[in-house]
Amino acid sequence: MNKRPLSRRASRIHPSATLKIDAKFKRMLSEGIDVVGFAAGEPDFDTPEYIKSAACKAIKEGKTKYTPASGIYDLKVAVCNKLKKDNNLTYEPSQIIISSGAKQSLYNSLSVLLNPGDEVILPGPFWVSYYELIQMAGGYPVILEGREEDDFQITKKQIEDALSEKTKAIIITNPNNPTGMMISNEFLKVIADICVKNGIYVISDEIYEKLIYDGKEHMSIAALGEDIKDLTIVVNGVSKTYAMTGWRIGYTASNHEIAALMSNYQSHSTSNPNTIAQYAALAALSADDGSAERMKKEFEKRRNYMVDRINTLPYVHCRKPMGAFYVMMNVSKLFPKKYKGRVIDSATSLCEILLDNFKLSLVPCESFGAGDYVRWSYATSMENIVKGLDRLEAFLGEVED
Ligand code: PMP
Ligand code: GLU
Repeated sequence: MNKRPLSRRASRIHPSATLKIDAKFKRMLSEGIDVVGFAAGEPDFDTPEYIKSAACKAIKEGKTKYTPASGIYDLKVAVCNKLKKDNNLTYEPSQIIISSGAKQSLYNSLSVLLNPGDEVILPGPFWVSYYELIQMAGGYPVILEGREEDDFQITKKQIEDALSEKTKAIIITNPNNPTGMMISNEFLKVIADICVKNGIYVISDEIYEKLIYDGKEHMSIAALGEDIKDLTIVVNGVSKTYAMTGWRIGYTASNHEIAALMSNYQSHSTSNPNTIAQYAALAALSADDGSAERMKKEFEKRRNYMVDRINTLPYVHCRKPMGAFYVMMNVSKLFPKKYKGRVIDSATSLCEILLDNFKLSLVPCESFGAGDYVRWSYATSMENIVKGLDRLEAFLGEVED
């Protein structure tokens, strides 16, 4: 049978590297293999009790039906209150769209901004899904490379040189996944000025906003003035701050026009995000039992241990990340060394050797636009972190020229 070809756009999309590696790790664990995993950025803590209770209460009260496609009004109000309190941003509930995770918020954002062939500036290293989501929405990612010696930050000149008639938006992630680095307030202002001057939209991914260490503070680019606020789609969610990755609740705040398009889009693609999870997210945002702060303190301890230990090892090094829960380790000195005759010539080949021989699961960063690096997530117990670094050290002791 001569079947008609499937969608060219869909055929270009790669599976999520992080989710693929995480699935393999979880499968190995379920087979009883003593594998230690640092792949998915998923807090190891349980969702706080007060949030789980709110979900149980919602079920008991029969809140189990469709809600408005863009989410329940009370949750939108809670998001507005959060944005006012934490980010000094004033929005109306009608400007908030609640979605099935920040990933859907990002997909909605790109879908309503882009026409076929539009370009999106993507500072690298970048989180793997942006690259694919831009293409899924019909756009082209224009990658700008941040250098390690600049804490992986791009420059004004790089942005200006990348601008074209087709530039529609820039994606910024603060703090960043995978580098953990932050954009300075001064540079946020530079980005804002360029965007306002050229009418370019900003997708500001602030999902790691509450995971910032050493007393540093987060600022949203949208808080820099009315013009840039009008051009910005703030993306956030409850997955990371409240250890709620499986509940799938994210949200956007944007101007009314964009919010209306996203609401229409979502009403046909998925309808409302899970009703019970919306009530859980409402509890998460409306109260504070101190667990988010406790998790942050624990992440900070783990980061310090991991960074210090990596920088005592041969062949590898890393910068100290300022936020999120990732460490990007430079492994370029291992190329092209050998392990038991097997050549290490890329981050992917290194991760394969580590998984096959040392049962250590890390993410190679080629698909994050950073082929000289592998990513560790320290959203796992200290015991696992010690074990994982012991395994890395054992491997490095056996590397040959
Ligand atoms: N943005 C970034 C930078 C992320 O690392 C993640 C992790 N999944 C997301 C968005 C999506 O989060 P969610 O689980 O809410 O879809
Ligand atoms: N954002 C997390 C990560 O980078 C979770 C996995 C995913 O959604 O890609 O590992």
